[in-house]
Amino acid sequence: MLIIQKYGGTSVGDTDRIRNVAKRVIASKKEGHDIIVVVSAMAGETNRLVDLASKISEEPDGREYDMLVSTGEQVTIALLALAIRNMGVPARSFLGHQLRIITDNAFSKARIKSIDADLIRRELAKGHIAVVAGFQGIDEEGNITTLGRGGSDTTAVALAAALNADACEIYTDVDGVYTADPRIVPSAQRLSKISYEEMLEMSSLGAKVLQIRSVEIAAKYNVPLWVKSSFNNEEGTLVTKEDSSMEEVVVSGVAHDKNEAKIAVRHLADRPGIASKLFTTISGANINVDMIIQNVSEDGFTDITFTVPRSDLKKALSLTTQIAKELGSEKIEADEKIAKVSVIGVGMRSHAGVASQTFATLAKEGINIQMIATSEIKISVVIHEKDTEKAVRALHKAFGLDK
Ligand code: ADP
Ligand code: ASP
Ligand code: MG
Repeated sequence: MLIIQKYGGTSVGDTDRIRNVAKRVIASKKEGHDIIVVVSAMAGETNRLVDLASKISEEPDGREYDMLVSTGEQVTIALLALAIRNMGVPARSFLGHQLRIITDNAFSKARIKSIDADLIRRELAKGHIAVVAGFQGIDEEGNITTLGRGGSDTTAVALAAALNADACEIYTDVDGVYTADPRIVPSAQRLSKISYEEMLEMSSLGAKVLQIRSVEIAAKYNVPLWVKSSFNNEEGTLVTKEDSSMEEVVVSGVAHDKNEAKIAVRHLADRPGIASKLFTTISGANINVDMIIQNVSEDGFTDITFTVPRSDLKKALSLTTQIAKELGSEKIEADEKIAKVSVIGVGMRSHAGVASQTFATLAKEGINIQMIATSEIKISVVIHEKDTEKAVRALHKAFGLDK
């Protein structure tokens, strides 16, 4: 079998842990499998690099930013390859460009376009364990790019898809995907399996255990994706195609996200083309707008409120201010102290009442809802940041997810 294993920052946080990973990788190799290991930077390292950049420049140039933040992974691949070799097993480390992991040129959020599978197959044919730097690639011009925070997951799944691997195993500091972030909800339960679609919602709604893009690729290419602990041998969670047993569960998880900010534009003329003008400008700056609400028009004027990633707030605010001025509104408010809390489940398609129970639960806790968004399989609300933990725990309990 060909197995891709990915170890995250905490799992390679120091040299003892790197040796622990080396042992685990070797054990899988000795079972007779071909192994590709993808690793992240050591815990805290990418944050340190991001901080360094922000000390030099308020809005760092994209190319230079990626040149910097991609370096953390180079350290770990070399250390892990050394550790494996010291244990008597051949291993070789590779940076993204050495495997021709080609991405677009959207620095700091690049998407993988292709991987030269033959290069790495040749390495495996030599009997080597291939140790690959996660999170990075190169664009068509040869510039180093990075895939967004948490992007090593995506490197691993993209390799699994490109090589048609038998399994992709994401090893992290929790032993699977839980019904809520176990750090916030101690009574959260591990799911033995979850559908790609639910996992996609969980990831995009804030559960950082898997990067969204990695789940998208896994779903598209049907990659058998496991989330497991690097510290024990528990079974973990399988992310896979939906089956009929999954529909019986109405809500399978609660997620939260404190990385968004809200912008409200007041008193905008209510006529065709206004929203288009505003959001075309914002998306043109490569900023992803998440939720949008527009109030009922009064006297030909309306308010538009939307959320953007907190890291893009400054840029989004300056663009919005500019556009709003052109459109005749002078009143803009920004709020960073928000959180998005969501309940997710494919069972919502066939069960009614999830929205009303969500709202009733929050009301009982005295939590005010600022924005609402729904899809077939999720309900999200924006609330004050200070209420996040309370809301997540209350919803987790209300939907019967507590142990
Ligand atoms: P790594 O460094 O290994 O990539 P991450 O920190 O990116 O690890 O992801 C693992 C973390 O995701 C866990 O420590 C946990 O706090 C968080 N998490 C959030 N939501 C969930 C969830 N529903 N199930 C499991 N972990 C979750
Ligand atoms: N080191 C990168 C980050 O911290 C990528 C990853 O860990 O997946 O975001
Ligand atoms: Mg991660």
